[in-house]
Amino acid sequence: MGLARSTRLVAAEDRAAQVFDCVRAFLTLHRLSAEPAHYAFAYDVVCNPAGVIAKSVATMTEGGIRLSARDIESLGGGTVTTATAGASPDGLVAQTQMQVEGFTDMVRSMRAETADFGRDLAASATALQGGASSADMIRLTAVMLDRVQSAEARLQAATSEADQLRAKLEEARGDARRDPLTGLPNRRAFEEAFAEHTVRGTRLCLAVCDVDRFKRVNDQFGHSVGDRVLKAIAEALSAACEGHFVARYGGEEFVILFANVDLAQAHTTLESARLTVDAKRYRLRETDMPLGAVTFSAGLTPAETGELLGAVFGRADKLLYAAKDSGRNQVRLP
Ligand code: GH3
Ligand code: MG
Ligand code: MG
Repeated sequence: MGLARSTRLVAAEDRAAQVFDCVRAFLTLHRLSAEPAHYAFAYDVVCNPAGVIAKSVATMTEGGIRLSARDIESLGGGTVTTATAGASPDGLVAQTQMQVEGFTDMVRSMRAETADFGRDLAASATALQGGASSADMIRLTAVMLDRVQSAEARLQAATSEADQLRAKLEEARGDARRDPLTGLPNRRAFEEAFAEHTVRGTRLCLAVCDVDRFKRVNDQFGHSVGDRVLKAIAEALSAACEGHFVARYGGEEFVILFANVDLAQAHTTLESARLTVDAKRYRLRETDMPLGAVTFSAGLTPAETGELLGAVFGRADKLLYAAKDSGRNQVRLP
């Protein structure tokens, strides 16, 4: 092995050991476990001290404050092990900022290199005219090739980083429109769906459904049993109203947008959903004790062409309360 090469290897090993020591010191200082997400985060702070993450860490730890695992997650550092849970919006913003800065730096350095490259090309053309040796030409070509390859590698890495970030942003966008308990679209998604249908001029009927006496389920069996019941009702509604937009509006309220069907058809579908839920007999998983019937009441109304959501919703909601007043477990039409 040549002396220059072995010197380079020793230098690389020294650098790796130094980075490792700094990462370990960072994890120890903040009492963080050495799990990959924390390690990657610390590595980023150590190796990119001028980056957004390192600067945010400096601000957050001013005055000797220790970082928590949650802080790290908020800066996008928990996403290695919690990829499916989705990055926090703050973390994604920090990551996006970092990436944009990275791109800017890269473009700047590539422009500088291109300028050097142009100068070298001009110099080599002059040298050729002046009768440069083939050894000179080989050296120049090797330098240029090296630069092109390194630029290609950086572009490749940046592109794959951008792809990952795009996927995380899409996932975060999806999470913002999904109810975590039932997995159904949430109120925001419902409002967007209604707006889209309005723009397209779709014929719509809206149902507002509310679980009957649900407080009793919580009071008698506990909140987690209540949660399980909500999930089961969400599944039953989705199955019975397949092809229509079912969302959890909030609490124990669900909404259904029936598209391209008339009121009678929407009513038939909703009635079958109501009967399915009514017929289910829930039991406690642990003791097999019956919970009794769980039912829902609903108000169902067609939307006039171009009518605003507030007006349609208000009408369906009034019908829902009429259904409650008339004894619950029923669907009311205008
Ligand atoms: P009504 O027939 O008049 O609608 O009676 P209700 O008991 O269903 O209505 P009320 O508004 O008094 O109570 C709703 C209950 O729903 C109270 C609240 O604790 C419960 N609830 C809302 N969201 C959730 C949730 O996500 N999980 C659980 N377990 N309970 C919830
Ligand atoms: Mg309610
Ligand atoms: Mg209720």
